[in-house]
Amino acid sequence: MTEPATLYLKPSGIKALDRGHPWIFSQAVAKATGHPMAGQTVRLADKTGGFKGWAWYSPQSGLRARLIDRRPEALDPARPESEDEWLTERLEAALTRRRALLQDQSTNAFRLINAESDGLPGLVVDAYADCLVLQANSSGAEKVKDRTAQWLAGRLEPACVFERSDADLRRREGLRPSSGPLIGPAPQGPVKISQDGAVFLVDVSDGQKTGFYLDQRQNRAFVAARAEGLEVLDCFCYTGGFSVQALKQGARRAVLVDSSARALALARTHLQLNGLVERADLVQANVHEVLRTYRDSRRSFDLIILDPPKLAPTKGQAAKAARAYKDLNLFALKLLKPGGLLATFSCSAAIDPPYFQEILLWAALDAGLQIQVVARLSQPEDHPILIGFPESEYLKGLLCRPV
Ligand code: SAH
Repeated sequence: MTEPATLYLKPSGIKALDRGHPWIFSQAVAKATGHPMAGQTVRLADKTGGFKGWAWYSPQSGLRARLIDRRPEALDPARPESEDEWLTERLEAALTRRRALLQDQSTNAFRLINAESDGLPGLVVDAYADCLVLQANSSGAEKVKDRTAQWLAGRLEPACVFERSDADLRRREGLRPSSGPLIGPAPQGPVKISQDGAVFLVDVSDGQKTGFYLDQRQNRAFVAARAEGLEVLDCFCYTGGFSVQALKQGARRAVLVDSSARALALARTHLQLNGLVERADLVQANVHEVLRTYRDSRRSFDLIILDPPKLAPTKGQAAKAARAYKDLNLFALKLLKPGGLLATFSCSAAIDPPYFQEILLWAALDAGLQIQVVARLSQPEDHPILIGFPESEYLKGLLCRPV
């Protein structure tokens, strides 16, 4: 029997794997045998050939392979159908973990498959009512995307499975962007979802990410529950998720700021659909400039939400991003009324929660304030964190107040 394609790893690669990390970088590969192709499942071995796991191979990427399983018996390269069985097991496990969410009447939109955290590197599937949106960000995910779409269609009977594989990440894998229906017809117009008593429209074919920031659902509810009677400034509002929930919970007024005209148009529609538009002002502008303008005009707010895009895409950019986060938070703190609340977030994995709290301390010191942490916020259960894989812990937030 021929030996399966194998990557022999250097000690650095073995060390990372043994700590629970699923990524094998090109520098950690001593030798590759068997001429594997993009997306092929390869065997990982230490220098003596000892089995270390199965991984999906990405010949063009510095991130050369992604671990998919540590059990020798999980796959059998001599039996191609073993990979189908393995995939079914993984998908079924991801759905089983979300059993409560699938039955939860308060939302019909959530993440079904969260890539590495669900043992399916680079594969994301979000559910928006009866439309599933799939994103394949690795060569291995690309290989299994059609089988995944078919399995999900059989299991959940959605109206469609729509592909949104247009993230920049794909370029590093040598994959072209790919968008369009995989199963069923493309939805005609936006898909209507409901979350925590509010309705939203999701543009699955052209919205940011797969159309909506599903990872902020619980945080929106948590912040909104404290918003009654408050005047809110919602910075980086996208389609208005935070403001809609805050106004529904009785916030007096909200100012929504985003640089994207498209996002704001949909935010306005959301405010109208939920009967809240009279209490909202929408501002299309750069948040940094708006914060300065409000400082100069001495405008102030009871609750400020800061949910910027990922400012540190890599660890190398963390220090620069930290200064940008600090400036944003400093400005926001200065606009808070006495007793006001700041809900501040970072979705950069390169800035970990202790570092983010440190940045808040710098902002508070510069503002001449002492701040109290009311709550530490994170990502919801459908975006699980693998503790051996710090990159999976990306969303963090602090609800805090000057005291
Ligand atoms: N809070 C949102 C998600 C925010 S995503 C929600 O709950 O859904 C980040 C948003 O910041 C995007 O909508 C993007 O258009 C916007 N953005 C990025 N840079 C900006 C800037 N400098 N000023 C204003 N908006 C910006």
